[in-house]
Amino acid sequence: MDSVILWIIIVAALLGLVPALIARTKGGNFIKWWIYGAVIFPIALPHSLGLNFKNFGLSKACGYCRIQVPLKAAHCPKCGYEFPDLRP
Ligand SMILES: [Zn+2]
Repeated sequence: MDSVILWIIIVAALLGLVPALIARTKGGNFIKWWIYGAVIFPIALPHSLGLNFKNFGLSKACGYCRIQVPLKAAHCPKCGYEFPDLRP
């Protein structure tokens, strides 16, 4: 029985590495995100992908470099691409 619990912890720790690595590339705290990802992986993974934006879920892809930018952005913060349509 103890070995089952140990395996759950190991698998959770490995899954947690995925959002932790994504968050680290965006300047997030690796250890904090690792624990977050290990505890609630299904939420931490999409959250880590949208880490740069407070209004997560309200983003669009840049037409030039394909990064996710806030929906209301007039131009891409990375490449400067101007969005032709500002409406959602
Ligand atoms: Zn861009």
